[in-house]
Amino acid sequence: MDKQRYLQRTQDGLWLTEDEKENLKLSYRVRDVLFEEQSPFQHVMVLDSYDFGPMLVLDGVVQTTSVDGHIYNEMLAHMPLTLHPAPRRVLIIGGGDCGVAKEAAKYDVVETIDLVEIDEAVVRACRKHMPEVSGGEHPDPRIRHHYSDGVEFVKGRQGEYDVIIVDSSDPVGPAEQLFSSAFYRDLHAALDEGGLMVCQSQSPIFHRDVMLRTWERIGSLFPHVRMYTAVVPTYPGGLWSFTLGSKRPLPAPEEIRFDKEAFYVNENVLRASFALPAFLEKLIRERGGK
Ligand code: SAM
Repeated sequence: MDKQRYLQRTQDGLWLTEDEKENLKLSYRVRDVLFEEQSPFQHVMVLDSYDFGPMLVLDGVVQTTSVDGHIYNEMLAHMPLTLHPAPRRVLIIGGGDCGVAKEAAKYDVVETIDLVEIDEAVVRACRKHMPEVSGGEHPDPRIRHHYSDGVEFVKGRQGEYDVIIVDSSDPVGPAEQLFSSAFYRDLHAALDEGGLMVCQSQSPIFHRDVMLRTWERIGSLFPHVRMYTAVVPTYPGGLWSFTLGSKRPLPAPEEIRFDKEAFYVNENVLRASFALPAFLEKLIRERGGK
């Protein structure tokens, strides 16, 4: 597969068209192709787009961009790291753009950050061409890169981590098993008794089945489960969900304290993100949520 499959040149320039669903296409005008490689796992591109700057594109799907990547990466990283009182050992599954790892390194209490990304080409591309997301080519020494399948990496681990963050692509291809019950069971075992995990749980607009299935699977393993949202402009439908599973009781939103330097997240944003739209509250309540 090569870039011609995803890029079209028209009289007004070069366009990436994301074939999101049979009735939805999202197109971005592109200045230049900064990186392109067919890895053993997927087609990897970094495109310099007019409106969102350099963007990571995997198999033709936008993963993160230099303009809105902060929103997703900060919401995925700072919620669990702020809720856990002493997140010393952090595991990130996926996250090859290194944005979540960069945010985790803002916590002095964090001693190790295991970044388990299946595709080394993604890390190489983002460290070189998307420094504002990845943090560049000289990562924090606490970040330990493991180029392997996250599903295999967590198998058999017992109580090794305080926080696990699943920053996966959509549930297709190599990421499909990162949404499975077996994987969540292994995550649960890999967490210490006070540990908590979070995953991106797709769109409440376009991917309700995956989102609710994720909510149920995590809720069946963890005594405390919560959903929160944020709007990510380059994700289909904008509104995006995150599902948190915790072995310990979680503080009330108003008890959240946040003091890190961030582009999008602050204390009020973290607290307010648990306020779900009425339709989403109803969907969750119907699935046994509180
Ligand atoms: N923020 C993006 C989103 O929400 O779509 C995703 C961030 S990151 C680019 C997703 C990463 O997950 C990709 O780099 C992909 O290679 C990686 N990945 C997919 N399946 C994986 C697996 N089984 N184990 C480890 N990493 C995996």
